[in-house]
Amino acid sequence: MPSAPSSKLYADDVTLLMVLLDTNPLFWSSSSVSFSSFLSHVLSFLNSVLLLNQLNQVVVIATGYNYCDYVFDSSLATNQGSENGRMPALCTNLLHKLEEFAIKDENLHKDGSEKGLASSLLSGSLSMALCYIQKVFRSGPLHPQPRILCLHGSSDGPEQYVAIMNSIFSAQRSMVPVDSCYIGSNNSAFLQQASYITGGVYLKPQQLDGLFQYLSTVFATDLHSRTFLQLPKSVGVDFRASCFCHKKTIDMGYICSVCLSIFCKHHKKCSTCGSVFGQVQSDNGSASNSNLKRKTT
Ligand SMILES: [Zn+2]
Ligand SMILES: [Zn+2]
Repeated sequence: MPSAPSSKLYADDVTLLMVLLDTNPLFWSSSSVSFSSFLSHVLSFLNSVLLLNQLNQVVVIATGYNYCDYVFDSSLATNQGSENGRMPALCTNLLHKLEEFAIKDENLHKDGSEKGLASSLLSGSLSMALCYIQKVFRSGPLHPQPRILCLHGSSDGPEQYVAIMNSIFSAQRSMVPVDSCYIGSNNSAFLQQASYITGGVYLKPQQLDGLFQYLSTVFATDLHSRTFLQLPKSVGVDFRASCFCHKKTIDMGYICSVCLSIFCKHHKKCSTCGSVFGQVQSDNGSASNSNLKRKTT
């Protein structure tokens, strides 16, 4: 059931932009660009989105390595206008919340028994963005057109594969495009798949000192205007999956024909749905009762 019939929209150019901001200190400490200069590009971009239409709404979710949280919502009354007539509320409120967030994220890391993971909690922030969008869909007769923008740099966490794929399919079902601007060194297979499946744009900027220009030319336009633009096309998408047993990225594996769980090795029983598998197919292809299929990507 598509949740966003066009009759309920304000107009075709009113946007709800959910921004997922990667704050993972493990990534930023090794990045070629500093977090503060990255943030100054992003703040300018968010301001320009809000300027494009007075009904536009921006919500920022910080994605840490232990935790994620909403750090800014332009629809809240406290975020309207300016403080002391100097800095716009967007900057002061967002920076303040971001600082609180970073401290909390760091504390959770100390308390937790988990060792330092290089990946951010993308599955968590994607779920939070989708929850927010569902709330907006159900809030009243009119709503802006939602989309998600992942500003991400950390490497993929294969252990989040199932949760992220579930979020991607949920976004696809709600017709919410997931745009990705990936600033890490290699491409992110998760974000490539997210943008490909949901009809969003995946971009890996070549020069990070011009990040604002990439953001404003590719991601500032509303979805209606996007149909008239020549936006970056994905040259190749890494469709590799992670196995459910070890959370490793695999090229080839076994799929349960009942629940579509993926395994790197042959198992007697599916750990997800409990289906008992027959004999694995032998070289002459005789075992026909096997319900464990081999998957090639
Ligand atoms: Zn495995
Ligand atoms: Zn199964």
